[in-house]
Amino acid sequence: MLKEYRILKLFFLFLFFLPLSGCTTSGMGGAHELEDITPGEKPTIESYEGGVWYQIDKLEEAIKSKAALGGEMRLDDPKLEEYIRKVVCKVAGDHCKDIRTYIMNAPHFNAGMFPNGLMLVNTGFLLRIQSEAQLAAVLGHEVGHYVKRHGMKRQLDKKAKTDLANIIFTITIGTVPMTGENMRNLYDLIAMITYGSIQAFSRNHEREADRFGLEGMAKAGYELDAAAKNWEWLIKEMEMHGHSTSAGYYASHPSSPERVKNLREHAKTLKQSEFPITNEDVYYQNISSHIGDWLEGVVSLKNFKSTEYIIDTWYSKKKNLAELDYYKGEIYFARNKDDDLEKAIKHYEKSINQNPDFYLPYRRLGLIYYKKKDKKYKEYFRKYVMFKPDAKDRSMIESYINE
Ligand SMILES: [Zn+2]
Repeated sequence: MLKEYRILKLFFLFLFFLPLSGCTTSGMGGAHELEDITPGEKPTIESYEGGVWYQIDKLEEAIKSKAALGGEMRLDDPKLEEYIRKVVCKVAGDHCKDIRTYIMNAPHFNAGMFPNGLMLVNTGFLLRIQSEAQLAAVLGHEVGHYVKRHGMKRQLDKKAKTDLANIIFTITIGTVPMTGENMRNLYDLIAMITYGSIQAFSRNHEREADRFGLEGMAKAGYELDAAAKNWEWLIKEMEMHGHSTSAGYYASHPSSPERVKNLREHAKTLKQSEFPITNEDVYYQNISSHIGDWLEGVVSLKNFKSTEYIIDTWYSKKKNLAELDYYKGEIYFARNKDDDLEKAIKHYEKSINQNPDFYLPYRRLGLIYYKKKDKKYKEYFRKYVMFKPDAKDRSMIESYINE
């Protein structure tokens, strides 16, 4: 999980990179003449495109490395990655084998595609959707960027070249040798990409990718309205932040009611399957073991309203209730205004009622009562150690119990 100081640091990095990567609709030069990529096609290494691929291949090696998988940047769940790969294949047709997807441990709603077929999907995105159809919508959209060579078209823009120079620079300092400060640079680079700061496409490219995604969904029989639902969610989240959120999809993907309208209008021109696939249960089964961890990441961003919204959405599905109540408590605990502490305690208690074996609320309640100098903290700490015997802070907690 990302630590808070890291998020702060990334935010500054993001600000630094943003002016270089705003959406542009002009200045593509001859880029419009680039044809769609064909299945299995690879550029020659001597070409400009081949050079770009080569650099991004290096980035991909770093993402694939054990270090990135170490838990901090990339999610270690081959089964979930395989599931996502299957959904990519349903919407990507013959391009399926040209796309590699990796799941990045980052709490923002984001996914990104690179010219060489490297696709990154954030855990923050996976947490916010509730069906395979919604997943297919974003994956299909990203595959659209690949097939239409949007990444390359951007690289041919002079401004975007500066972005690439920055990426290459960071890769170089981030890969040799892979220790200490250099490792942190590499993490920063991957995180920067994961946060969407170099993934800004033009509005035309966005429209093209939207259409490509919808057409892939129609062929695969998915519920077409899922695409519009994703954007409606983003708009809602943006409104909750007073449009102040500048990271991830918010910055790179112009989301407006007009976009939702266009998606619905285009969907009407396509043949919707008689029994549209949503696969909510299949999707849930694939991600359910991660919901708690992913919520922890979102809670750490301190966007209280949207975090509440995410939790309430899952709550309505009546799944993972103990975890949901615990993290709802964590929102109020972190905000700590007016009667927030009492509200938090109620949610921790509710969490224990939902699942008495779930250890986290015992720890938090123990800490709260310890601070209040209320003796009942000991009982909570005892239960915490009982249900989580391998807890990292076990010796500290036990020293509190023995006071
Ligand atoms: Zn896009």
